[in-house]
Amino acid sequence: MADYLISGGTLYVPEDGLTAQQLFASADGLTYDDFLILPGFIDFLAGEVDLTSALTRKITLKTPLISFPTDTVTEVDMAIKVKKFEQGFITDPVVLSPSHTVGDVLEAKVRHGFSGIPITETGTMGSKLVGIVTSRDIDFLAEKDHTTLLSEVMTPRIELVVAPAGVTFEEANEILKRSKKGKLPVVNDHDELVAIIARTDLKKNRDYPLASKDSHKQLLCGAVVGTREDDKFRLDLLTQAGVDVIVLDSSQGNLVYQIAMVHYTKQKYPHLQVIGGNVMTAAQAKNLIDAGVDGLHVGMGCGSICITPEVMACGRIHGSAVYKVAEYARRFGVPIIADGGIQTLGHVVKALALGASTVMMGSLLAATTEASAEYFSDGVPLKKYQGMGSLDAMEKSSSSQKRYFSEGDKVKFAQSVSGSIQDKGFIQKFVPYLIAGIQHSCQDIGARSLPVLRSMMYSGELKFEKRTVSAQMEGGVHGLHSYEKRLY
Ligand code: IMP
Repeated sequence: MADYLISGGTLYVPEDGLTAQQLFASADGLTYDDFLILPGFIDFLAGEVDLTSALTRKITLKTPLISFPTDTVTEVDMAIKVKKFEQGFITDPVVLSPSHTVGDVLEAKVRHGFSGIPITETGTMGSKLVGIVTSRDIDFLAEKDHTTLLSEVMTPRIELVVAPAGVTFEEANEILKRSKKGKLPVVNDHDELVAIIARTDLKKNRDYPLASKDSHKQLLCGAVVGTREDDKFRLDLLTQAGVDVIVLDSSQGNLVYQIAMVHYTKQKYPHLQVIGGNVMTAAQAKNLIDAGVDGLHVGMGCGSICITPEVMACGRIHGSAVYKVAEYARRFGVPIIADGGIQTLGHVVKALALGASTVMMGSLLAATTEASAEYFSDGVPLKKYQGMGSLDAMEKSSSSQKRYFSEGDKVKFAQSVSGSIQDKGFIQKFVPYLIAGIQHSCQDIGARSLPVLRSMMYSGELKFEKRTVSAQMEGGVHGLHSYEKRLY
């Protein structure tokens, strides 16, 4: 009883649970199933939990989730055509002149997949706006009319609703909403075309409020770049296409070539954000942080397809890797990505609670409808999923070989397997489940946002408890004759 009272009669609660520092004090590595987070105090709604989190020093994401950039998961359906998918002010639209023909519009439609083309005197941006051609202007023209001049079919300038240059994005959207038109041209004092805004973008903005965007209201885009001479050319092309962040992706990122590539990139494109990795220890992280990276990938030997620890004797248990690297990198403002080994919603939260700012998922997103592999059937609908270091992937792609330093090797040896995963349905349903789940979990913990979650962890307020094997069994479904595990 005495433990519960201090002088003055105030009730005092004894220390309970372990701080993260105590949890990882022993030399034994820990992973997500080895511990639980003790619940805290709730005074807010789950929906209020802010999941904004840093990807790099300068880029924040509205949700802390990233898909594994591999050919069986992340291709165009998952990543869409980022910079052209949603735009704010489009400053480089397709423009035609009155002397172009209906055939030119149809060709532009096939090539770029849209109609609603502004017409200027010279057919270029910066020239006087004289009209617009939409599909409604040309829908009913006969085949032979493809040579018709646009001057004859376009909606002329006098009938157009336009916005003045300098208009804010929000004001322009209001005008577009009221005008009920598909495109809103933006013109300067001389009536010259300086930008257009598309109604479809307005809708996407409404339908995907959690999309993370750059200052031009375009979606953020990242791309992987290797560390060889020819990758410098790829880097140039990517920056010309507006890439926001490049990722140097090696299975073991603490290497002289990656450090040199970080130096090169930062010198040539100082504002481009660079993520390095993969690293597992503070010593590895130090070299990349010293070289100038803005973010770090953490994980080796934890991926669902991975056999690296078995064949290379190298790697690190993921919970420990995330905690140790994040704890070091935060001193330099460098956020980390917990990469691989995330099997459940609970693992996502635990990775974030150990200091990760974002989480990269392969198996969790593989076999969603949008994952790039084709469906096949073995009684149930399946999709292929493989690691980049699998023989299949290395035989197919040089970037996979580069990741595992095996280009030119006579003997190829696998660091992962090729397998299959059962269909998970649309990512449009799965990701909202993850988001709502992280929010509810943060509510149980008593953290209103991810930065709060991390600061609770570093201050020692967040408490953990280790789980024995029997505790892990207790924490799963048990004692039932049968059950169905439907998660969302
Ligand atoms: P998962 O989310 O557990 O499926 O792990 C995906 C992660 O595994 C990726 O983001 C990579 O970091 C890692 N990975 C990819 N290919 C390989 C491989 O061939 N061997 C080991 N790890 C891999």
